[in-house]
Amino acid sequence: MTKQLLTDDRQAQPNHTTKPPAQQELSQQELWEIRAVNTHCHNLLPHWFEDITLHRLLQMTYVSWIVPDAGDTPQGHRFYFDEMGANSYFRWWKQGVEALHGGGETLTPENWDAFDERVRQAYSSPGHNLSALREKCAYDAILLDDYMAPGSCHDSPELMRPVFRCDMFLCGYAPGKTDENHNNAYDFFPAVPASLAEYEVMTEQAVARAVQNGAVGLKIAIAYERPLDFRPGTRAAAERAFGDSNASPEDIRAFGDHMMFFLAGVAAKLDVPIQIHTGLGGMDGSRAIGLQPLIHANPATRFDLFHASYPWCADVLGLAHKYPNVYLDLCWLPLISTARAQAFLREALELVNAGRLLWGCDTWTCEESMGARLAAHRCILDVLNGFIREGILDHAQALACARGILRENAARLYKLF
Ligand SMILES: [Zn+2]
Repeated sequence: MTKQLLTDDRQAQPNHTTKPPAQQELSQQELWEIRAVNTHCHNLLPHWFEDITLHRLLQMTYVSWIVPDAGDTPQGHRFYFDEMGANSYFRWWKQGVEALHGGGETLTPENWDAFDERVRQAYSSPGHNLSALREKCAYDAILLDDYMAPGSCHDSPELMRPVFRCDMFLCGYAPGKTDENHNNAYDFFPAVPASLAEYEVMTEQAVARAVQNGAVGLKIAIAYERPLDFRPGTRAAAERAFGDSNASPEDIRAFGDHMMFFLAGVAAKLDVPIQIHTGLGGMDGSRAIGLQPLIHANPATRFDLFHASYPWCADVLGLAHKYPNVYLDLCWLPLISTARAQAFLREALELVNAGRLLWGCDTWTCEESMGARLAAHRCILDVLNGFIREGILDHAQALACARGILRENAARLYKLF
């Protein structure tokens, strides 16, 4: 049987030997002409930049998650180039700084002070961050996740489209119980709920209000606090936890499980997607496969799964293959590891329809956001031009795919324009 198939395949070969006309590859310029929709950003308000220096700007990046502050000294600066030169966080931040402040120059330990002066100068204008995001990073919309003020749009509703961080509703089993960013569900309620049923009603009302006020999606980042394996059918245990500040760890977890299922239902009812942070985070049950029971039970909810569940990228690929309501969001991934992001993007395009791929920067400053976009461009060009060279996509198809990833897919999913 196999042999027969092979023979048939070979008979079909002659067509493949005719070389198709060489297709022009995608260019950096073509990608920059795409006004992007950035699905995830933690943009900071101007007061964060009052005493800005280049060194402080670096401390506001993921570099500070990997190595302790090496100091704002010539030796300290050199440390980053020597020790972190190949690190994706550092090298793309550096390229972002060069793109916004370099005037064609490359940042080195030797010219650090000159760049430092330019950065201070740029931030002396309070509008620097927003104008760089709009003009230089070329964003038409940024989905803002301000975990210090859930639902805020930083007074820039035309650019910043808020997502409503909902972790607090999973944590509020008793008054005073907050999420890890000190957000308190009870601050969003008109009164203290007397029962779990009332808590559910008030949660739904709070979410609906946020959506009415402009939130285009919900956001769950609870993987920094607890495993993602939400179990169905935990309402009875959630009832036991409700109102009891000494509830057992099992019942507290069941409360979070129950509220996550509840929120998935609310998202479907309000027709807004849920963004879920997966992968890095707690690293204890934070891989995306734990979400399967939740996704399985909620076919009408659109799940925007973040960060490719890095380092367990196969998890989201498997989920996206099985569930058409799963979207693959590359946000943060090209900054975590550009090599893995390239491999992931190719595999994802081989696996599911291109319309389910999204991208966001996941950064706090315009410099790192610019670096994130440059990193995304590197991945997109690498993968799509590979497909063009192999004759799998033509130029127009590849450009449409890039437009989808950087703009159209998110615009459609979040109903932005
Ligand atoms: Zn984030």
